[in-house]
Amino acid sequence: MAKRVVALVPAAGRGHRMGSNTPKQFLTLGGLPLLVHSLRILEASPAISSIVLAAPQADLDYCKRDIVEKYGFKKVRQIVTGGAERQDSVRFGLAAVGAEAEIVLVHDAVRPFLTAGMVAQVVEAAAKHGAAIVAIPMRDTVKRVGSDGLIDETVDRKPLWLAQTPQAFKRALLEDAHARALQSGFRATDDAQLVEQLGHRVAIVEGSTDNIKVTRPEDLAVGESILSSRKGM
Ligand code: C5P
Repeated sequence: MAKRVVALVPAAGRGHRMGSNTPKQFLTLGGLPLLVHSLRILEASPAISSIVLAAPQADLDYCKRDIVEKYGFKKVRQIVTGGAERQDSVRFGLAAVGAEAEIVLVHDAVRPFLTAGMVAQVVEAAAKHGAAIVAIPMRDTVKRVGSDGLIDETVDRKPLWLAQTPQAFKRALLEDAHARALQSGFRATDDAQLVEQLGHRVAIVEGSTDNIKVTRPEDLAVGESILSSRKGM
């Protein structure tokens, strides 16, 4: 029988780096909020049974009415209030994921170009290995730079990958990782690192350079061009 997979979407950032008052997950790309792009893929993915969203306290109503109801996302089961940092938002979302979920797939709202293929592959790899992330191999030459601004060395890039989301985990493993991190005060920038901290190996699924994270204003222009190149396909 297919595993029950819940998607957890942290969308509770305040987006200060964008220099805009609107949190970046609600900024529009091709006329639709970034969050809508991400939710559309998850909603249409047969691997996903339901979705839990973490949103800023002030935007809970907006998310319910102007995102979930307006665009008819039937799989969104709950919208929880996010926390001060991404890790807190994921932990709060995790508390709303039912015990019946075998796998939790975490996906940042601000990566609108995930694909159904990535979702299927990362879920399959998580079912096999307990934890898996989408990542891309490092293609640029990497330098280690000293505090004096001068290069100390060139790093071998072969074993280096850039982590993206979606990331999928056996629910119990992810819960354990977040509980331990909370206890010890450990802070990480993605969920895989919390799982690595437990000594658990995490599998890699090759992603795509299109799967960008919209962080700075110029990323929106890149996003528009990815969107129009896809329309032309
Ligand atoms: O800020 P960053 O680029 O790491 O955000 C990645 C994702 O985490 C975004 O979708 C953002 O909305 C979310 N986030 C969150 N709660 C926070 C900070 C970020 O859910 N406190």
